[in-house]
Amino acid sequence: MTRVATLPGDAVPVSERFRITQALRIAAVGLILLCHLLAPDTLQPDRNNLLPWTLGYLVVIGAVEGLARLIPRHTLVLFSGMLMLDGVWLAWATYLTGSTASPLRYAMLLHLGAVCLIASYRTGIKLAVWHTLLLFTIRNMIAGNVLTDTSPTNLSGYGSADHRLAIFVVVLWLVAISTSTLSAINERELRRRRGDLEALTSLAEQIERTDDSSSVARTLLDAAVTTYGFPRGVVLASAEGHLPVLASYGLDEDVARRPGRPGPSLVISQAHESKATVLVRGLDGEADPWLARLLPNASNLVVVPLSAEGRSLGALVMEHTGGQRIQRRIVTGLERSASYAALALRNAWLLEQVQRLAATDGLTKIANRRTFEATLEREVARATRSAEHVSLVMVDIDHFKALNDTHGHQAGDEVLRNVAASLSCECRDFDTPARYGGEEFAIILPGCGPDEALDIAERLRRAVSAAPSVVPITASAGVATYPSHAGDADTLVRAADEALYRSKHAGRDQTSLSEGVPPEAQVDALLRRAVSQRLGRPVPADDGDAVTPSAHGADPG
Ligand code: GH3
Ligand code: MG
Ligand code: MG
Repeated sequence: MTRVATLPGDAVPVSERFRITQALRIAAVGLILLCHLLAPDTLQPDRNNLLPWTLGYLVVIGAVEGLARLIPRHTLVLFSGMLMLDGVWLAWATYLTGSTASPLRYAMLLHLGAVCLIASYRTGIKLAVWHTLLLFTIRNMIAGNVLTDTSPTNLSGYGSADHRLAIFVVVLWLVAISTSTLSAINERELRRRRGDLEALTSLAEQIERTDDSSSVARTLLDAAVTTYGFPRGVVLASAEGHLPVLASYGLDEDVARRPGRPGPSLVISQAHESKATVLVRGLDGEADPWLARLLPNASNLVVVPLSAEGRSLGALVMEHTGGQRIQRRIVTGLERSASYAALALRNAWLLEQVQRLAATDGLTKIANRRTFEATLEREVARATRSAEHVSLVMVDIDHFKALNDTHGHQAGDEVLRNVAASLSCECRDFDTPARYGGEEFAIILPGCGPDEALDIAERLRRAVSAAPSVVPITASAGVATYPSHAGDADTLVRAADEALYRSKHAGRDQTSLSEGVPPEAQVDALLRRAVSQRLGRPVPADDGDAVTPSAHGADPG
């Protein structure tokens, strides 16, 4: 990739600036040649000498142009060198055509003004120094009789050559300072705008790398704080349009840790109604208690609505320092960032929703079979690393088919929902209750040994029996523990299933502890796992491997 050479802090590439100055040079040379042809008297007294110098300079311009194309990475050096050479050529041409009375001296002013605007104010000032130096050098050379005086003798009414030079230098500096100031203001504004644009691009890149709503909010807030230096700010948003704190900056530590229950906000509603940013001097604690709690004694708030696809999602609220008016540029920057982040938030929530749907069972809203299997694998791996236990409880509702047949599937569904809710209530935060299939539930108990797991399983089984139902229900449970009864996740499921089968077989409404999977079955499972890892797809168990019938299929009672 070829890099475009740029002057530090400048927005326009130096190659473009170089092209413009080259065009101006050719125009200036063309003008002199035209004057030579059409108004030769204006270029006295040494116009004959000026012609070869001008043509020579044209050759230099052409040669430098060729060099710039040949070695584009040195354009900056050529650009600066040519500016200095311009100065020498202009000073010499001015000397040849009448020194302080030469019409070409105005070309110096033009050159200076153009450079101040095209390059930078710093370059302009340096060039003014260069022109002054050259003018004084030639003047001194004339005074020292190194050069003959070319100024016309009939200028007695216009002061001495030194006076004329002094006045011209003052004018030159006035041009330099005024155009440099203008250029500096433009440059500052350009730099700011470029900074804003870069901040927005970097925000977009960072947001693209995030995949959850909190990270999107954090990125938006960090970008606003680093780009514009706000002392406090919050992002309040949710998919439903409530206003929980998604990210905060500069809040009181207590408030940041425990923001409390989110409530509505008057100013945020106003921002959404007007679909525009609202600037607020201060917050009314009674009309806006939620925001006033988060940002006590707030002054100069910028409230930017966050909305996507016509839906209000929340707001970005930043506090602006001091009593100054906030710049339009900053508000626009915040609005652009907010609209980008709002879309990203919406996408993140949609993704979270899809992931939630893919991970949970549609009827009971607890983990589904896929999530169960992934969680069990993870917990067994963790238990292996930390040399701990992990237990698995399988619970199956007794005679559920009869309940369905008698009271209908809808009543059955309701019972399944209630059973799932009871299991969730009974579990610890780090346990995973899941619907294994049909009316069978599996509960992963990390860190539980066989004895503790048996107690918990009995408690869970009773909770299932106590779940609201059209008719009283009972349940049977089986418990197995890794590594006591099984060597991996697959055999742990099998061990718990066998224990459940024993509960069923023993008359239901009870809990059984696994007797352990036979060692050959464990070896077989390990081999199967190794082969499936190698093949990259699951390898089904052999028919002959099904030592024990599954609890769901058989009806021993
Ligand atoms: P056991 O005591 O041996 O477990 O007998 P069971 O009747 O509970 O077991 P069986 O395997 O014979 O029947 C399971 C029933 O669960 C059959 C099916 O209609 C019912 N079932 C499975 N999934 C659902 C569901 O999502 N909703 C409802 N309502 N019923 C379901
Ligand atoms: Mg059943
Ligand atoms: Mg069953």
